[in-house]
Formats: sequence, structure tokens, C-alpha cells
Amino acid sequence: MQRLCLLHFLKLHRIWTLRQGRALSSAVPAVYDVVISGGGMVGSAMACALGSDPNLRHKKILLLEAGHRKAFDCLPEIFSNRVSSITPGSAALLASFGAWDLILAMRFKPFKRMQVWDACSDALITFDKDAMEDMGYIVENDVIISALTQQLDSLSKRVEVLYRSRVLDYKWPPPYNNGEASPWVEIELSDGQKLHTRLLIGADGHNSMVRSSAGMQTVQWGYNHVAIVATLHLSEATDNNVSWQRFLPSGPIALLPLSDTCSSLVWSTSPEHASQLVNMDEESFVDTVNSAFWSNENHSEFITSAGSLLHSALSFFTPSGTSARQLPPSVARVEKNSRAAFPLGLRHATEYIRHRVALIGDAAHRVHPLAGQGVNMGFGDVASLTHHLSTAAFNGSDLGSTKHLLEFETERQRHNLPLMAAVDLLKRLYNTKQPPVVLLRTLGLQATNALSPVKVWNHFVWGGNNVILLIQ
Ligand SMILES: Cc1cc2nc3c(=O)[nH]c(=O)nc-3n(C[C@H](O)[C@H](O)[C@H](O)COP(=O)(O)OP(=O)(O)OC[C@H]3O[C@@H](n4cnc5c(N)ncnc54)[C@H](O)[C@@H]3O)c2cc1C
Repeated sequence: MQRLCLLHFLKLHRIWTLRQGRALSSAVPAVYDVVISGGGMVGSAMACALGSDPNLRHKKILLLEAGHRKAFDCLPEIFSNRVSSITPGSAALLASFGAWDLILAMRFKPFKRMQVWDACSDALITFDKDAMEDMGYIVENDVIISALTQQLDSLSKRVEVLYRSRVLDYKWPPPYNNGEASPWVEIELSDGQKLHTRLLIGADGHNSMVRSSAGMQTVQWGYNHVAIVATLHLSEATDNNVSWQRFLPSGPIALLPLSDTCSSLVWSTSPEHASQLVNMDEESFVDTVNSAFWSNENHSEFITSAGSLLHSALSFFTPSGTSARQLPPSVARVEKNSRAAFPLGLRHATEYIRHRVALIGDAAHRVHPLAGQGVNMGFGDVASLTHHLSTAAFNGSDLGSTKHLLEFETERQRHNLPLMAAVDLLKRLYNTKQPPVVLLRTLGLQATNALSPVKVWNHFVWGGNNVILLIQ
């Protein structure tokens, strides 16, 4: 009788766990080939990429996300205040597994030109694409997540997803199987469930628990900077296909197009100024934003004259190389409750991989948003790791082996480190009003604007096609 009751209980428990969409918890933990911890933009893209790869079709793949499932039944009318500038390379990655079409069917705004200019002089740099080509896309983060979630729904036979599943602990296997300890990574979830995996991919953000639990070191510093984001309504409808960024002595301010009448603000500044910006009344906020884009209060006569002298000389030698300054649109109103603040810092993991573990996205590298590169670097990691895992699966190799994981690490660190150093340098170079530095950067920017090969490198930093280079 007791045995019957137990069997009945186990049956009910199985039905309950399956209804919860959960893997069956039992005395013997399930063994996965790959578990991705963290279903943000990067982890979800990783799950889609692995689930769509033909060489990995027989692998058992699981995505764990602490938060709830986020997919729109109906797109909100009001734009979210969290947006990302997406490079054509990242768009190509998302298109490779069907998520880009879902984004296009929801909401996105292509831009064809970028103008970056100095608030302490007339120096500017512009990047243009011809009428047919897009330079990049501004997409709400929620739209990207929604598209990835829908794509994961369509891959449900290939990728299992557990939402509201926070990982509490990881146990690491010894590098060589000693026959006693489990050879797999052990994962303990907040509901007590235990899982095993041959490869754990840490996509759990800049405070990554995977990274800290594995004892992977980081190089990091805070910027004493906070990014203020907000959704802005423009004074009049325009094509609004330019991405604007001005370097103020207090930090960069960017206006990113969302539609003909709306743009998104990302303003990095000191914590004290950020708190004033968030708390001031809406009218004063709009005036402060307009003045940050238009005011010449930080100009010095000497630097302006030196800059325009160089500009005239360059226009003479390379008439087609210097492009005209355009004026940014003026802002009429800020969307109610759209202002929010995010502290900024740099963090880089000295190792991206160890035996049976790899880090991707912000878990491996966190950058200042001034170049709009954070998630694009993460999507680059996804493209690279998918390629190496696919090759390993094709060759019948162990997915958690350091052999191909090392190739991923080398490839990505070669790309990410110079980019992070360049972004950090830009942040420091423009965070001062010191006349010699302002003069140097004014002349440098004017010259760069006129010289195409140098501009190509700058384009690489300011949101170029870096991921495309890796995918191809
Ligand atoms: C103001 C601002 C503007 C930006 N603009 C741009 C831009 O224009 N372009 C660009 O490329 N980048 C931009 N970035 C950077 C970009 O937002 C980040 O690089 C990106 O969000 C990182 O994504 P991720 O998936 O790696 O990490 P996250 O978004 O942090 O996701 C981590 C996920 O892991 C989950 N998680 C964490 N711990 C656990 C656990 N223990 N168990 C289970 N799940 C867990 C979390 O719930 C979360 O969903 C910007 C950043 C800021 C702050």
C-alpha cells in the first residue's frame, strides 16, 4: 500500500514538474551537453545559435534564466528607454537563426550617418553610408529579447529553457577524471534541482556568478560615471536617420533615432549630475538636454581658430574628405517616467575559458557604452563560440575540452582587448577641458575625418562592422 502511494506521488510529481516546463528532478541529475547560464540578450542568442546549428542537432542543450519569460503578445506603443545600437554584423548573426526577421516585424530604426563632435571645439567626425546601405540599427532591448524568446519557442525540440531558475551553486570537475568525482560541472538551482553538464557557458552578466565561482580573475575599474537614459520626443518630424554623439567635458551625450519623431538618450556623466538630471522637472530636463547638444560655452577661441585652420588646409588637399556638419534635432519633451540611471565601469576577465566552462557577453567583458559595443561584442562571442563548438561536434570531440575553447578565447580576446582599450582611451581623452589635450584631440579628429583609412579604424570603434569580420 505504502509503495503504491509512493508511486502515485512520484507520478503526480512528474506531471507537476512537466507542467512547470521543468526537467525532471530525480536522484540521478540529468546530464546536458551544454548549459547556458543567463538568458539576457547574449545568452538567449547563444541558445538560438547552438539550437540552429546542424552539427549540434543531437546535443542536449539547456538555457537557465533567473527572470521570467519575456515575449510580447502585443508591442507596447511607448518606446522602452533601454535600447542598443546594433551593427550590421550583429544583425547578420541574428538573421542566421531567424531572430532578425522577428525584430524587423516588431520595431527597429536604421541609421545611415553618425556624427561625433567635441563640445570644446568645432572638431567633428562623420561616417556615412550611401542611400542603399544602413550603418546600424537602433533596437529596443526588450524587442531583441522578445524576438530571441519567440525563436527559442520554435526551437523547443532542440533547446530546453527554464525561466525563473536561478543558479545557486556550481561544483567544478577536476581537470582529469579521477574516477571518484563527477567529470561534469554540477549546477544547483534555487528549487534544489541538480543538473550536470559537459560544458557550462556563463552568460550571466557583469557580476557573473559563473566567473566568480570558477575563480576567474578580472581587471576592473569604475568610471565614477552614470549613464542616464530616457525616451525623447522631437520638436518636429524628420527622417531622423542620424546617430548623434557629442563629447562634453563631463562625458558623452548621445541621441539615437527610434522613429521620425522619437529618439533615445544616453548621457554619461558624474553621479551628482546624473542624480540632478533624474530628479529635475521635465521642462528643465529638456532644456538641459538641448543645451548639451547646442551650447558652445566650452569653446575656446584659440582652439577653434587652430581647428578651423587645419580644416581649411585639409579641405584644400582632400576636398571630398571633410564632410559637412549637420545640426542635431531639438527635443520638445521627455516621455514620462522614462529617465533611469546605470552606473558604468570597465571589467575584463583575464581568462574566458577553463576546463568545461566558457564566458561570453558582459560576464567576460563590460565596456563604457560610449561606442555602443557591449552587446555587439557579446554577439561576436556567440558567433565565434558557435563556430568552434560546431567544429568540435563535427569532429566528435568533447564539447567541454579546453582544446577548442582555447581557440575561442584567443580569437575573442584578440578582438575584444584592443576595442576595450580604444573605448577606454576615448573616454579619458574626452573627459577633460585641459587646453593642450583639447588642441591635440581637435587636430586629431579633424585629420581623421579627412583620411579614409584612419576613419575605417574609427568606424570599427564607433559601431562598425566588427562582428561581420568574425562571422565571415
Ligand atoms: C546605458 C547603456 C547603454 C548601452 N548601449 C549599448 C549599445 O548601444 N550597443 C551595445 O552593443 N551595447 C550597449 N550596452 C551594453 C549592453 O547593454 C550589454 O553589453 C548587454 O546588455 C549585456 O548582455 P548580457 O546578456 O551579456 O548580460 P545581461 O543583460 O546582464 O544578462 C544576464 C542574464 O543572466 C541572468 N542571470 C544572472 N545571474 C543568474 C543566475 N545565477 N542564474 C540564472 N540566471 C542568471 C540575468 O537574469 C540576466 O537575464 C549599453 C549598456 C548600458 C548600461
